[in-house]
Amino acid sequence: MPFLSDTLAAVKPSPTVAVTQLARELQAKGRDIISLGAGEPDFDTPDNIKAAAIAAIEAGKTKYTPPDGIPELKQAICDKFARENGLSYQPSQISVSTGGKQVLYNALMATLNPGDEVIIPAPYWVSYPDIVRLGQGTPVIVEGEEARGFKITPEALEAAITPATKWFIFNSPSNPTGAGYTEAELKALTDVLLRHDHVWIMSDDMYEHLAFDGFRFVTPAQVEPRLYDRTLTVNGVSKAYAMTGWRIGYAGGPEHLIAAMRKIQGQSTTNPSSISQWAAVEALNGPQDYLSERCAAFSARRDLVVAGLNACPGITCAVPEGAFYVYPSVAGCIGAVSSGGKIIATDEDFCTALLEEQGVAVVFGAAFGLSPYFRVSYAESEAVLAEACARIKTFCEGLHHG
Ligand code: PLP
Repeated sequence: MPFLSDTLAAVKPSPTVAVTQLARELQAKGRDIISLGAGEPDFDTPDNIKAAAIAAIEAGKTKYTPPDGIPELKQAICDKFARENGLSYQPSQISVSTGGKQVLYNALMATLNPGDEVIIPAPYWVSYPDIVRLGQGTPVIVEGEEARGFKITPEALEAAITPATKWFIFNSPSNPTGAGYTEAELKALTDVLLRHDHVWIMSDDMYEHLAFDGFRFVTPAQVEPRLYDRTLTVNGVSKAYAMTGWRIGYAGGPEHLIAAMRKIQGQSTTNPSSISQWAAVEALNGPQDYLSERCAAFSARRDLVVAGLNACPGITCAVPEGAFYVYPSVAGCIGAVSSGGKIIATDEDFCTALLEEQGVAVVFGAAFGLSPYFRVSYAESEAVLAEACARIKTFCEGLHHG
């Protein structure tokens, strides 16, 4: 009898974590590496949030909390949904977990039965298909084309829906492309979903606050209120408030789903860190002005990286609406040989050779379900990004086409 579960065999370790780890190992060996693999802001957590956490420790708020969140945080989340998204949730409809990832995990574990299908647009955040597989569900991938900004069409969504579809996972602005759906584009998708009342919507709004050039963020339950009763609206403080290490994510949704998620959490991690929850109360209720300042910094970095990549022979890079990622195509490099003698047959070959020969770590597109591309996380200073682009250009200029 095998020791490890059959379900686990279907799950891959996170490739983004693997690239970041490899970059760290090379750095430890003395190599000069620029790592653009990790998905976290380089900014520090704002001081008012840190102070709230310190105050919580000093006030002895260091015990178990209700499993899915302290009442003060649930109220702050209800207020946030009302203020920013026009969504009305009661505290009984809110779940707080250890990061947005645990929210998604709880929801999928609480609802999937073997054979249930989950529609995931590609390119996708690497964890969606693997969490679905852990829940013994079947990921159904719908590809977004580069020509349409990597956004899926209503026709493609319609074609992917079967009687076995349980969830549609929606992520805008997206990791890994930065693509953001306009209200009209999202409405076209929600019109399809309205016609299939057995399909639930999981909206991952993690990058809500990272939207540029006046792009207006919208979320499905807001665009189509008739979907409210079968939508889980997921968000968190990790990306917006530079709090990835604090591990707080949350969701609003129907009470019966929230209760089921609470049951999973109660038998796994119990509650998210009490101290981080108090920090998140301050993040949501406190001043919000740094959000726009940081957004402006990210927008300038995006422009720098898009221009830098488009100057590299063989690479084309679309301009995304948000997040802190770009997803350039390496179609023009496939089939070439690098100056170090490596054959570039896939986007993974491109990224491996780029790391070995120029010391730039990025994640290959196959990991996100759409090739031949790679993901750049531009949550780095402009000086580092300019150097990374210069190295990528040198790498591309060194490619020989047969
Ligand atoms: N959803 C998306 C699209 C993400 O990119 C991430 C983190 O990379 C998460 C969810 C998870 O966020 P958290 O760090 O709060 O678990």
